[in-house]
Amino acid sequence: MSFIKSGFRPVFSSQPRAVVSKSGILKQAGPLVFLLSLGVVLGGCSKIPPARSEFVLGTVCTVNLYRGGTAALYGDIFARLRDLEGLMSSNAADTEVARINQNAGIAPVKAGEEVIRVLSAALHYAELSGGTFDPTVGPLVKLWGIGTEQARIPAEEEIRGALDLVNWREVIVNREAGTVFLPKPGMGIDLGAIAKGYAADQAAELIKKAGISGALIDLGGNIYALGTKGEGKPWRIAVQDPLDVRGAYIGVLELGEKSVVTSGVYERFLEAEDRRYHHILSTADGYPADTGLLSVTVIADTSMDADALSTVLFVLGYGEGRILADSLENIEALFVLQDLSIRGTPGALENFTLVNDQYRIVR
Ligand code: ADP
Ligand code: MG
Repeated sequence: MSFIKSGFRPVFSSQPRAVVSKSGILKQAGPLVFLLSLGVVLGGCSKIPPARSEFVLGTVCTVNLYRGGTAALYGDIFARLRDLEGLMSSNAADTEVARINQNAGIAPVKAGEEVIRVLSAALHYAELSGGTFDPTVGPLVKLWGIGTEQARIPAEEEIRGALDLVNWREVIVNREAGTVFLPKPGMGIDLGAIAKGYAADQAAELIKKAGISGALIDLGGNIYALGTKGEGKPWRIAVQDPLDVRGAYIGVLELGEKSVVTSGVYERFLEAEDRRYHHILSTADGYPADTGLLSVTVIADTSMDADALSTVLFVLGYGEGRILADSLENIEALFVLQDLSIRGTPGALENFTLVNDQYRIVR
Protein backbone atom coordinates (compact mmCIF):
# COMPACT_ATOMS: atom_id res chain seq x y z
CA MET A 1 0.00 0.00 0.00
CA SER A 2 1.22 3.43 -0.69
CA PHE A 3 0.08 6.90 -0.05
CA ILE A 4 1.18 10.27 -1.20
CA LYS A 5 2.06 13.03 1.10
CA SER A 6 1.92 16.29 -0.60
CA GLY A 7 5.11 17.83 0.68
CA PHE A 8 3.27 21.04 0.85
CA ARG A 9 2.03 22.28 4.16
CA PRO A 10 1.54 26.01 4.34
CA VAL A 11 1.92 27.44 7.79
CA PHE A 12 0.89 30.91 8.76
CA SER A 13 1.63 31.91 12.27
CA SER A 14 0.97 35.09 14.09
CA GLN A 15 2.13 33.71 17.40
CA PRO A 16 5.36 35.04 18.87
CA ARG A 17 8.16 32.65 18.06
CA ALA A 18 11.77 32.37 18.94
CA VAL A 19 13.79 33.89 16.19
CA VAL A 20 17.41 34.66 15.84
CA SER A 21 18.39 38.23 16.28
CA LYS A 22 21.05 39.80 14.12
CA SER A 23 23.68 38.96 16.69
CA GLY A 24 22.73 35.30 16.44
CA ILE A 25 21.34 35.06 19.96
CA LEU A 26 17.95 33.44 20.38
CA LYS A 27 15.28 35.76 21.65
CA GLN A 28 11.56 36.13 21.64
CA ALA A 29 10.37 38.43 18.90
CA GLY A 30 7.15 39.64 17.38
CA PRO A 31 5.07 37.64 14.95
CA LEU A 32 6.74 35.73 12.22
CA VAL A 33 5.44 35.59 8.74
CA PHE A 34 5.81 32.00 7.71
CA LEU A 35 6.21 32.06 4.03
CA LEU A 36 5.60 28.93 2.18
CA SER A 37 7.77 25.97 1.48
CA LEU A 38 11.45 26.74 1.88
CA GLY A 39 11.15 30.34 2.67
CA VAL A 40 10.46 31.63 6.06
CA VAL A 41 11.14 35.28 6.14
CA LEU A 42 11.78 36.52 9.58
CA GLY A 43 10.68 39.87 10.78
CA GLY A 44 10.26 41.70 14.00
CA CYS A 45 7.42 43.98 12.97
CA SER A 46 4.20 43.95 14.89
CA LYS A 47 1.71 43.14 12.16
CA ILE A 48 1.77 40.85 9.17
CA PRO A 49 2.19 43.05 6.11
CA PRO A 50 -0.40 42.80 3.37
CA ALA A 51 0.37 40.09 0.88
CA ARG A 52 -1.53 38.02 -1.62
CA SER A 53 -1.41 34.23 -2.01
CA GLU A 54 -2.88 32.15 -4.82
CA PHE A 55 -2.50 28.60 -6.03
CA VAL A 56 -0.63 28.93 -9.33
CA LEU A 57 2.17 26.96 -11.03
CA GLY A 58 1.20 23.90 -9.01
CA THR A 59 1.94 25.53 -5.68
CA VAL A 60 0.97 28.35 -3.34
CA CYS A 61 2.50 31.58 -4.55
CA THR A 62 2.77 34.56 -2.23
CA VAL A 63 3.72 38.07 -3.21
CA ASN A 64 4.31 40.75 -0.62
CA LEU A 65 4.63 44.31 -1.88
CA TYR A 66 5.86 45.91 1.29
CA ARG A 67 5.49 49.52 0.25
CA GLY A 68 3.29 51.01 -2.43
CA GLY A 69 1.48 47.84 -3.54
CA THR A 70 -1.92 48.22 -5.17
CA ALA A 71 -4.69 45.75 -5.89
CA ALA A 72 -4.13 46.39 -9.61
CA LEU A 73 -0.45 45.48 -9.38
CA TYR A 74 -1.19 42.31 -7.40
CA GLY A 75 -3.76 41.49 -10.09
CA ASP A 76 -1.22 41.98 -12.90
CA ILE A 77 1.41 39.86 -11.16
CA PHE A 78 -0.91 36.90 -10.60
CA ALA A 79 -2.31 37.20 -14.13
CA ARG A 80 1.27 36.99 -15.43
CA LEU A 81 1.95 33.90 -13.31
CA ARG A 82 -1.20 32.23 -14.59
CA ASP A 83 -0.22 33.05 -18.19
CA LEU A 84 3.16 31.44 -17.67
CA GLU A 85 1.52 28.36 -16.19
CA GLY A 86 -0.65 28.26 -19.31
CA LEU A 87 2.48 28.15 -21.46
CA MET A 88 4.83 25.93 -19.51
CA SER A 89 2.89 23.38 -17.48
CA SER A 90 3.23 19.81 -18.70
CA ASN A 91 0.21 18.67 -16.69
CA ALA A 92 -2.54 20.67 -18.41
CA ALA A 93 -3.47 19.53 -21.92
CA ASP A 94 -3.42 22.84 -23.74
CA THR A 95 -0.14 24.55 -22.90
CA GLU A 96 2.64 25.13 -25.42
CA VAL A 97 4.79 22.55 -23.65
CA ALA A 98 1.94 20.01 -23.65
CA ARG A 99 1.44 20.53 -27.40
CA ILE A 100 5.16 19.99 -28.04
CA ASN A 101 4.90 16.75 -26.05
CA GLN A 102 1.71 15.59 -27.79
CA ASN A 103 3.50 16.03 -31.13
CA ALA A 104 6.61 14.09 -30.17
CA GLY A 105 7.64 11.93 -33.12
CA ILE A 106 5.02 13.65 -35.28
CA ALA A 107 5.84 17.26 -36.06
CA PRO A 108 7.62 20.43 -34.89
CA VAL A 109 5.36 22.72 -32.88
CA LYS A 110 5.26 26.52 -32.86
CA ALA A 111 6.30 27.86 -29.52
CA GLY A 112 6.47 31.39 -28.24
CA GLU A 113 9.63 33.24 -27.35
CA GLU A 114 9.25 32.58 -23.61
CA VAL A 115 8.98 28.78 -23.85
CA ILE A 116 11.96 28.74 -26.21
CA ARG A 117 13.94 30.93 -23.83
CA VAL A 118 13.26 28.76 -20.77
CA LEU A 119 13.77 25.51 -22.69
CA SER A 120 17.07 26.82 -24.09
CA ALA A 121 18.23 27.71 -20.58
CA ALA A 122 17.24 24.22 -19.40
CA LEU A 123 19.20 22.66 -22.29
CA HIS A 124 22.19 24.80 -21.32
CA TYR A 125 22.03 23.40 -17.79
CA ALA A 126 21.66 19.90 -19.21
CA GLU A 127 24.91 20.40 -21.08
CA LEU A 128 26.61 21.90 -18.03
CA SER A 129 25.66 18.89 -15.89
CA GLY A 130 26.42 16.26 -18.52
CA GLY A 131 22.71 15.37 -18.76
CA THR A 132 22.23 14.72 -15.03
CA PHE A 133 19.79 17.61 -15.18
CA ASP A 134 17.61 17.01 -18.24
CA PRO A 135 14.38 18.78 -19.27
CA THR A 136 13.36 15.72 -21.33
CA VAL A 137 12.87 13.84 -18.04
CA GLY A 138 9.08 14.15 -18.69
CA PRO A 139 8.29 10.45 -19.35
CA LEU A 140 10.07 9.46 -16.13
CA VAL A 141 8.33 12.17 -14.09
CA LYS A 142 4.93 11.03 -15.46
CA LEU A 143 5.73 7.38 -14.74
CA TRP A 144 6.47 8.00 -11.04
CA GLY A 145 3.74 10.62 -10.73
CA ILE A 146 5.22 11.88 -7.46
CA GLY A 147 3.06 14.64 -6.04
CA THR A 148 -0.03 13.36 -7.88
CA GLU A 149 -2.79 10.91 -6.97
CA GLN A 150 -1.21 8.41 -9.38
CA ALA A 151 2.15 8.20 -7.62
CA ARG A 152 3.56 4.66 -7.55
CA ILE A 153 6.81 2.71 -7.75
CA PRO A 154 7.12 1.68 -11.40
CA ALA A 155 8.42 -1.71 -12.56
CA GLU A 156 12.07 -1.94 -13.68
CA GLU A 157 10.96 -2.48 -17.25
CA GLU A 158 8.82 0.64 -17.25
CA ILE A 159 11.71 2.66 -15.85
CA ARG A 160 14.03 1.37 -18.59
CA GLY A 161 11.44 2.26 -21.21
CA ALA A 162 11.04 5.80 -19.91
CA LEU A 163 14.81 6.29 -19.58
CA ASP A 164 15.23 5.43 -23.27
CA LEU A 165 13.17 8.52 -24.05
CA VAL A 166 15.22 10.89 -21.89
CA ASN A 167 17.89 12.67 -23.94
CA TRP A 168 18.24 16.44 -24.09
CA ARG A 169 20.57 16.18 -27.11
CA GLU A 170 17.68 15.03 -29.29
CA VAL A 171 15.54 18.14 -28.76
CA ILE A 172 15.41 20.23 -31.94
CA VAL A 173 14.89 23.93 -31.29
CA ASN A 174 14.51 25.95 -34.49
CA ARG A 175 14.84 29.56 -33.42
CA GLU A 176 14.16 31.02 -36.86
CA ALA A 177 10.96 29.08 -37.31
CA GLY A 178 10.15 29.38 -33.61
CA THR A 179 9.48 25.65 -33.29
CA VAL A 180 10.41 22.78 -31.00
CA PHE A 181 10.50 19.16 -32.14
CA LEU A 182 10.89 16.03 -30.05
CA PRO A 183 11.87 13.37 -32.59
CA LYS A 184 10.76 10.22 -30.75
CA PRO A 185 7.15 9.34 -29.91
CA GLY A 186 6.69 9.36 -26.15
CA MET A 187 9.40 11.97 -25.48
CA GLY A 188 8.31 14.81 -23.22
CA ILE A 189 9.62 18.09 -21.90
CA ASP A 190 9.22 18.90 -18.21
CA LEU A 191 10.20 22.40 -17.09
CA GLY A 192 9.30 21.74 -13.44
CA ALA A 193 12.84 22.41 -12.27
CA ILE A 194 13.15 25.83 -13.87
CA ALA A 195 9.79 27.42 -14.80
CA LYS A 196 8.98 28.76 -11.33
CA GLY A 197 12.32 30.54 -11.33
CA TYR A 198 11.56 32.21 -14.64
CA ALA A 199 8.11 33.15 -13.37
CA ALA A 200 9.61 34.76 -10.24
CA ASP A 201 11.93 36.82 -12.45
CA GLN A 202 8.95 37.97 -14.51
CA ALA A 203 7.00 38.93 -11.39
CA ALA A 204 10.06 40.89 -10.22
CA GLU A 205 10.19 42.73 -13.54
CA LEU A 206 6.59 43.89 -13.14
CA ILE A 207 7.24 45.03 -9.58
CA LYS A 208 10.39 46.95 -10.53
CA LYS A 209 8.57 48.63 -13.43
CA ALA A 210 5.93 49.81 -10.98
CA GLY A 211 8.69 51.50 -8.97
CA ILE A 212 8.28 49.39 -5.81
CA SER A 213 11.45 49.43 -3.74
CA GLY A 214 10.94 46.35 -1.60
CA ALA A 215 9.00 43.17 -2.28
CA LEU A 216 9.13 39.50 -1.60
CA ILE A 217 8.08 36.92 -4.16
CA ASP A 218 7.64 33.36 -2.90
CA LEU A 219 6.52 30.83 -5.49
CA GLY A 220 6.25 27.71 -3.35
CA GLY A 221 9.64 28.28 -1.75
CA ASN A 222 11.22 29.75 -4.84
CA ILE A 223 12.15 33.12 -3.32
CA TYR A 224 12.99 36.42 -4.99
CA ALA A 225 13.78 39.19 -2.52
CA LEU A 226 13.60 42.51 -4.33
CA GLY A 227 15.20 45.72 -3.11
CA THR A 228 15.24 46.01 0.65
CA LYS A 229 12.69 45.30 3.29
CA GLY A 230 13.04 48.82 4.67
CA GLU A 231 15.62 50.94 6.46
CA GLY A 232 18.30 49.25 4.39
CA LYS A 233 17.98 46.08 6.48
CA PRO A 234 18.91 42.81 4.81
CA TRP A 235 16.31 40.21 3.98
CA ARG A 236 16.38 37.28 6.37
CA ILE A 237 15.44 34.08 4.65
CA ALA A 238 15.19 30.85 6.57
CA VAL A 239 16.40 27.62 5.07
CA GLN A 240 13.95 24.76 5.61
CA ASP A 241 15.04 21.88 7.83
CA PRO A 242 14.84 19.02 5.30
CA LEU A 243 14.09 16.50 8.08
CA ASP A 244 11.45 18.45 9.97
CA VAL A 245 7.95 19.80 9.36
CA ARG A 246 7.36 22.66 6.97
CA GLY A 247 8.38 25.94 8.53
CA ALA A 248 11.09 24.42 10.76
CA TYR A 249 14.42 25.79 9.69
CA ILE A 250 18.08 25.03 10.08
CA GLY A 251 19.33 28.56 9.76
CA VAL A 252 18.94 31.99 8.26
CA LEU A 253 20.51 33.65 5.25
CA GLU A 254 20.90 37.44 5.37
CA LEU A 255 20.90 38.89 1.90
CA GLY A 256 20.33 41.93 -0.28
CA GLU A 257 18.43 41.68 -3.56
CA LYS A 258 18.82 38.02 -4.50
CA SER A 259 16.88 34.95 -5.44
CA VAL A 260 17.10 31.96 -3.10
CA VAL A 261 15.86 28.54 -4.18
CA THR A 262 16.09 25.15 -2.48
CA SER A 263 15.73 21.69 -3.96
CA GLY A 264 15.30 18.97 -1.42
CA VAL A 265 14.09 15.50 -0.58
CA TYR A 266 11.20 16.92 1.43
CA GLU A 267 9.51 18.94 -1.29
CA ARG A 268 7.32 16.26 -2.82
CA PHE A 269 7.55 12.56 -2.19
CA LEU A 270 5.81 9.21 -2.21
CA GLU A 271 5.95 7.02 0.90
CA ALA A 272 5.77 3.35 0.09
CA GLU A 273 7.26 0.11 1.40
CA ASP A 274 8.74 1.99 4.36
CA ARG A 275 10.70 4.27 2.11
CA ARG A 276 10.45 7.78 0.79
CA TYR A 277 10.71 8.41 -2.92
CA HIS A 278 11.26 12.07 -3.71
CA HIS A 279 10.62 13.96 -6.92
CA ILE A 280 14.10 14.71 -8.27
CA LEU A 281 14.99 11.81 -10.50
CA SER A 282 18.29 10.36 -11.61
CA THR A 283 18.67 10.28 -15.39
CA ALA A 284 21.23 7.50 -14.86
CA ASP A 285 19.01 4.88 -13.20
CA GLY A 286 15.51 6.39 -13.27
CA TYR A 287 15.07 6.37 -9.47
CA PRO A 288 14.96 9.34 -7.10
CA ALA A 289 18.45 10.82 -7.15
CA ASP A 290 20.45 9.72 -4.11
CA THR A 291 23.66 11.68 -4.04
CA GLY A 292 24.08 11.91 -0.28
CA LEU A 293 22.23 15.22 -0.05
CA LEU A 294 19.12 16.31 1.80
CA SER A 295 18.90 19.71 0.13
CA VAL A 296 20.73 22.33 -1.86
CA THR A 297 20.02 26.04 -1.61
CA VAL A 298 21.26 28.33 -4.36
CA ILE A 299 21.60 32.10 -4.12
CA ALA A 300 21.73 33.90 -7.46
CA ASP A 301 20.84 37.17 -9.17
CA THR A 302 18.08 35.60 -11.22
CA SER A 303 15.55 33.11 -9.99
CA MET A 304 15.75 31.08 -13.19
CA ASP A 305 19.43 30.41 -12.49
CA ALA A 306 18.78 29.73 -8.80
CA ASP A 307 15.92 27.32 -9.59
CA ALA A 308 17.71 25.38 -12.32
CA LEU A 309 20.98 25.25 -10.38
CA SER A 310 19.40 24.06 -7.14
CA THR A 311 18.17 21.02 -9.05
CA VAL A 312 21.43 20.68 -11.02
CA LEU A 313 23.55 20.72 -7.85
CA PHE A 314 21.17 18.33 -6.10
CA VAL A 315 21.49 15.72 -8.85
CA LEU A 316 25.25 16.20 -9.12
CA GLY A 317 25.83 15.74 -5.38
CA TYR A 318 28.23 17.67 -3.15
CA GLY A 319 31.54 16.75 -4.82
CA GLU A 320 30.77 17.67 -8.40
CA GLY A 321 28.13 20.20 -7.42
CA ARG A 322 30.54 22.20 -5.28
CA ILE A 323 33.11 22.27 -8.11
CA LEU A 324 30.45 23.54 -10.49
CA ALA A 325 29.14 26.14 -8.01
CA ASP A 326 32.68 27.43 -7.40
CA SER A 327 33.23 27.79 -11.13
CA LEU A 328 30.16 29.96 -11.69
CA GLU A 329 30.16 33.72 -11.07
CA ASN A 330 27.67 35.26 -8.68
CA ILE A 331 26.38 31.86 -7.62
CA GLU A 332 26.50 30.73 -4.01
CA ALA A 333 25.34 27.35 -2.76
CA LEU A 334 24.58 25.74 0.58
CA PHE A 335 24.52 21.94 0.70
CA VAL A 336 22.86 19.93 3.48
CA LEU A 337 24.29 16.42 3.47
CA GLN A 338 22.72 13.23 4.79
CA ASP A 339 25.40 13.14 7.53
CA LEU A 340 23.86 16.46 8.75
CA SER A 341 26.88 18.49 7.77
CA ILE A 342 26.30 21.80 6.05
CA ARG A 343 28.83 22.76 3.45
CA GLY A 344 28.93 25.47 0.86
CA THR A 345 30.65 28.17 -1.08
CA PRO A 346 32.38 30.77 1.12
CA GLY A 347 29.85 33.43 0.05
CA ALA A 348 26.92 31.30 1.19
CA LEU A 349 28.44 30.31 4.55
CA GLU A 350 29.41 33.92 5.24
CA ASN A 351 25.77 35.01 5.19
CA PHE A 352 24.36 31.96 6.94
CA THR A 353 23.59 31.62 10.65
CA LEU A 354 22.94 28.08 11.86
CA VAL A 355 20.20 27.80 14.49
CA ASN A 356 19.74 24.05 14.72
CA ASP A 357 22.39 22.11 16.65
CA GLN A 358 21.48 18.80 15.02
CA TYR A 359 23.47 20.12 12.09
CA ARG A 360 27.07 21.31 11.89
CA ILE A 361 28.86 23.58 9.48
CA VAL A 362 31.93 22.08 7.85
CA ARG A 363 34.17 24.52 5.99
P1 ADP B 1 10.42 21.95 -6.91
O1 ADP B 1 9.61 21.56 -8.09
O2 ADP B 1 10.02 21.25 -5.67
O3 ADP B 1 10.57 23.40 -6.74
P2 ADP B 1 12.95 21.46 -8.26
O4 ADP B 1 13.15 22.83 -8.77
O5 ADP B 1 14.16 20.79 -7.74
O6 ADP B 1 11.89 21.36 -7.11
O7 ADP B 1 12.37 20.64 -9.47
C1 ADP B 1 11.93 19.33 -9.36
C2 ADP B 1 11.11 19.02 -10.59
O8 ADP B 1 12.00 18.98 -11.72
C3 ADP B 1 10.43 17.68 -10.58
O9 ADP B 1 9.16 17.77 -10.01
C4 ADP B 1 10.38 17.35 -12.05
O10 ADP B 1 9.30 18.02 -12.66
C5 ADP B 1 11.66 17.92 -12.58
N1 ADP B 1 12.81 17.00 -12.54
C6 ADP B 1 12.96 15.84 -11.82
N2 ADP B 1 14.17 15.28 -12.03
C7 ADP B 1 14.82 16.09 -12.91
C8 ADP B 1 16.10 16.04 -13.56
N3 ADP B 1 16.97 15.06 -13.32
N4 ADP B 1 16.41 17.04 -14.43
C9 ADP B 1 15.54 18.05 -14.67
N5 ADP B 1 14.32 18.14 -14.12
C10 ADP B 1 13.96 17.19 -13.24
MG1 MG C 1 14.82 23.78 -9.46
